[in-house]
Amino acid sequence: MNSTAPAIVILGAGALETARRIQARYPGAQVHGLAGRVEADVAYGELGAHLRELYMRGTPLVVLCAAGIVIRCIAPLLSDKGAEPPVLAVAEDGSAVVPLLGGLAGVNRMAREIADALSVAPAITTSGELRFGTCVLNPPDGYALSSLTQGKRFVSDLLAGESTRIEGEAPWLDDAQLPRSSGARLAIRVTPQAWNGSADELLIHPRSVVAAIGGLDENIAEHVQHALSANGIASLALAVLLAPIGRAGEVTLTAVAATLGVALRFVATPATESKPHTLLAAAMRVPHEILAGDLPVALALAHAPVDPSSVGQARGRLSVIGLGPGDARLMVPAARDALDAATDVLGYETYVTMAGPFRADQRVHGTDNREEMQRARHAFELAAQGRSVVMVSSGDPGVFAMAAAVLEALHESGNARWASVELEILPGVSAAMATAAQAGAPLGHDFCMLSLSDNLKPWDVIENRLRHAAAADLVMAFYNPVSRARPWQLDRALDIVREFRSPETTVVLGRNVGRPGGQVRHISLGELRSEMVDMRTMVIIGSSLTRAFSVNGGEEWVYTPRWYRQV
Ligand code: SAH
Repeated sequence: MNSTAPAIVILGAGALETARRIQARYPGAQVHGLAGRVEADVAYGELGAHLRELYMRGTPLVVLCAAGIVIRCIAPLLSDKGAEPPVLAVAEDGSAVVPLLGGLAGVNRMAREIADALSVAPAITTSGELRFGTCVLNPPDGYALSSLTQGKRFVSDLLAGESTRIEGEAPWLDDAQLPRSSGARLAIRVTPQAWNGSADELLIHPRSVVAAIGGLDENIAEHVQHALSANGIASLALAVLLAPIGRAGEVTLTAVAATLGVALRFVATPATESKPHTLLAAAMRVPHEILAGDLPVALALAHAPVDPSSVGQARGRLSVIGLGPGDARLMVPAARDALDAATDVLGYETYVTMAGPFRADQRVHGTDNREEMQRARHAFELAAQGRSVVMVSSGDPGVFAMAAAVLEALHESGNARWASVELEILPGVSAAMATAAQAGAPLGHDFCMLSLSDNLKPWDVIENRLRHAAAADLVMAFYNPVSRARPWQLDRALDIVREFRSPETTVVLGRNVGRPGGQVRHISLGELRSEMVDMRTMVIIGSSLTRAFSVNGGEEWVYTPRWYRQV
């Protein structure tokens, strides 16, 4: 069962319309287009490498090209029988849908869904599927097949002509064309109970059990397993590990939940009442019975699969990300993933808009509020409620942006709940790097980044730093060079620079780099006027060795050599 959105991959504009029709069927799915051939949501450079990367990440793949091409691309990864996401080939014109891989991850179900969206018949080849209209070995979310080996034998018995009983609740089989009979030797049994040794059963466990721990901090996984087996419950029936909120920051708990293969959730109760039973009583929102009586683990058994998000709350996560200069291709994939997983997005309005569009279920807290510390605290408050929060900055979040404010808010607060939030800071392409790359390599040797804004530091500190940087012959990247509220500062800064650098010094100006209408050019320090610069401009002042040249009188490049000598 795989519920992540598929990547819909196309090679040219001819497939775009079909791709969009498939996309409409899967919320969150993106269309990946070959760079230079077709504009889509995500650009990629080489089909084989791109498909293999997505496959290894477990992303379901819907590829609009010949099945043979898809098979050749993925083939090198197939001998390793690891997690196998669904892989389908779809004809560009939408006339054929061919499930290729991922039988146990729901590829045939996807084939039916896509075929339905395209009004064609899917090319299903799995015998069990064809005969019964469903893959009996692929129960829906919230259920787990006890044993694949046993399951395969069961299905081949059915295919050989046997019939089956169904014991327990299996609503997804209601429409299946299974040969049923109440007196059958074979039985599909849906139960949280562990296998009782019967060879005539297909055992499916609803993930309906929540295990709560209080202060237990050693051999947690063993204690949980013990509690399950003492109650005759299958390990696969466990859905959630529940702990007191005070323990949300413990990495061991994350590891234990991963070992058990379950979700980790928390619940707020006073420290004195963090007994496992109390936690269950406070966190469970669905009908259930309490199983194990004794400490240190208590078990709750619900009457149906438990949706982990309905139990207590998550640890909460805050990702501080950089969007890069603007062009989506210059955003790191980890930042894209954080945005996709976000429940809440915060940041300065312009950047939040740049990070979108967002799904209807994502809350956007765009604000013109210039108070960064307040915004940072807001982010922690949301994350502490268990939400997945993303704070966006342009460029890199650590360069004159939100990451430092977020850390300062955490440092100052002493709030234990904030401290337990899963915090990550993801880098981005800063304006200086984006500008430099377009110009060539002006930052090829030692350089510094300076903000000319005196909003957050006294002007004399800026002058002093400029003087030292200029005297040291460092290349200088100026952020926040001017604004309406700071009209004279850039001229003053240039006066200082001119005391140390000749008028021939190369200067690079990048305006709106990576955004529509973006422009990068180079001039000399002598030509530079403050009117050429606004708050969306990056100013790179070269060192004495920064130089420009043109190739055959055409394209011009600026670079600072890798070596240094005094001039
Ligand atoms: N965190 C950002 C910088 C924020 S300070 C980063 O790492 O890029 C804002 C300043 O960055 C602007 O005043 C401008 O000098 C520069 N800047 C940001 N984006 C830019 C872009 N796309 N083109 C040119 N300069 C940019």
